[in-house]
Amino acid sequence: MNRGKLFIISGPSGSGKDTIMQGALKKHPEIKLSISSITRDMRVGEVEGEKYHFISRDEFEEMLKNDMLLEHNVFVGNYYGTPKAPVEECLANGNDMILEIDVNGAAQVREKMPEAISIFIMPPSFEVLKKRLSGRGTETEELVNKRLTAALSEIARAKEYDYIVVNDVIDEAIDDLLSIILSERLRINRQKQIIDEVLEKC
Ligand code: 5GP
Repeated sequence: MNRGKLFIISGPSGSGKDTIMQGALKKHPEIKLSISSITRDMRVGEVEGEKYHFISRDEFEEMLKNDMLLEHNVFVGNYYGTPKAPVEECLANGNDMILEIDVNGAAQVREKMPEAISIFIMPPSFEVLKKRLSGRGTETEELVNKRLTAALSEIARAKEYDYIVVNDVIDEAIDDLLSIILSERLRINRQKQIIDEVLEKC
């Protein structure tokens, strides 16, 4: 069985990466999403275990101590991390997996797993990003400003990625993301087995 592929998706808050990913996963439910463990408060509408496990700082630090995380980062004062075991299990079972993580986490994963494919979701402009973030109405102005500052430094690192998807028209961005994932599946290193099988039966 071929090992699954690991896709890293980053983009500033407000870039629309969640909507794009949900759209892509709806069309391709065989792609798994890694569930991060995080210490920030749950937002209205969020569900425990859906995208995040909401845990305490003590629990997070315990995971860190026990080397249970593939990567982690502190973002706007909270811990965010990818539990290692589910990623390994998913890939070993031949399933593709998406890690939706920030630029620092992405750099850590590239170090450990250079075969991972990284995709950066860009807002079409800073103005659009600002409007999307303030329009959410789920956070204070101070937090929105902190997220905007973080967004600028994330965009400055977009060149570290293998692919850029610009989220201007949502359906096009979903198709762009899926084209990347589907073409990566066709790479030669995943198809060698097929070549051997065909040749063996000649
Ligand atoms: P939010 O609080 O808006 O859900 O996420 C804030 C940032 O944390 C986003 O850039 C998101 O991609 C990132 N993030 C979510 N989960 C993880 C994780 O497990 N590791 C890292 N490094 N970043 C994460």
